Amino acid sequence: MERRDLFKGALAASLLGAPQLQAQTASGADIVIERAVSGMPHQGKVLALITPHLDDGPFFASGTVAKLLQEGYTGYFIRTSNDEKDSFDLTLGETVLGNERDARAFLQVSGLKQMFDLGYRNHRMDDLTRTEIRARLIFLFRLLKVDTIFSYDPWGHYEENPDHYVTAQAVEAACWMSGGHLDMPEHFAAGLKPHSVSEKYYFARGPQLVNRVVDIGPTFETKLACLRACRTMVTHMIKDLNAALVERKLRVPALSGVGSAAIDEYTKVALEARDRAAGRKFGLDYSEAFHYIGPDRSMDEYIASHAVPI
Ligand SMILES: [Zn+2]
Repeated sequence: MERRDLFKGALAASLLGAPQLQAQTASGADIVIERAVSGMPHQGKVLALITPHLDDGPFFASGTVAKLLQEGYTGYFIRTSNDEKDSFDLTLGETVLGNERDARAFLQVSGLKQMFDLGYRNHRMDDLTRTEIRARLIFLFRLLKVDTIFSYDPWGHYEENPDHYVTAQAVEAACWMSGGHLDMPEHFAAGLKPHSVSEKYYFARGPQLVNRVVDIGPTFETKLACLRACRTMVTHMIKDLNAALVERKLRVPALSGVGSAAIDEYTKVALEARDRAAGRKFGLDYSEAFHYIGPDRSMDEYIASHAVPI
């Protein structure tokens, strides 16, 4: 995710007085607060978390994903890159393997059912043809019958990572094209059917039109566990931070090691500060923010007054 820069900044802000990056921005649009509901209202529905990097979901959406899984969804994780660049001192091959193992651990703690690795080279996704990524996503959306997706906002501002915006744009287009009978009709000979994605939760690193805030208080511990599972990446963040602190002749004892204690401490500080601040604005302990796009209801009123039983 390359989120380490932000949290290095966030931690440094509290530790060193450095400026923090800009938070997500709520606009004048109505904001819906989505809270936990009892029972299994989403039984039978399918969600997919689609990100280029393993730690994107744990940072931005794993509290909400955990909530929806508790409420009946079945979930899948589609990782578009191979995460070959995100470690502190491993080789490229070791980095791929380390993050692949961590991804399996993330799957376990998140409650997601299965992972699909598209395996594109990390930091090089702007060199790919987007129609290929889109085609692979359309296949998966039809195969898994995905109703709801979580991904980066394809219209988020000031995104510097090509893996993020290339994945986001492919996801957005695939969501509606997967419902077309003339898009990749060979799928239908293999038994698949057209199937559109009807709900989208977009998250962003920079300013974004936010219209949905989700109460993740009840699932915040799961969110912490999801980020802790990203050991290779979190270790990278800790070592980067420690190196920056050494240059200032400082150290944080709780982050000095690279074992579980340091990972626990870093994860807690990184997520608590941001998610608590985001929740406080809405009277929540912790929250995640999204641009949410739901099903098209524009014909509902007409159908209610004109439709008759067949
Ligand atoms: Zn990322």
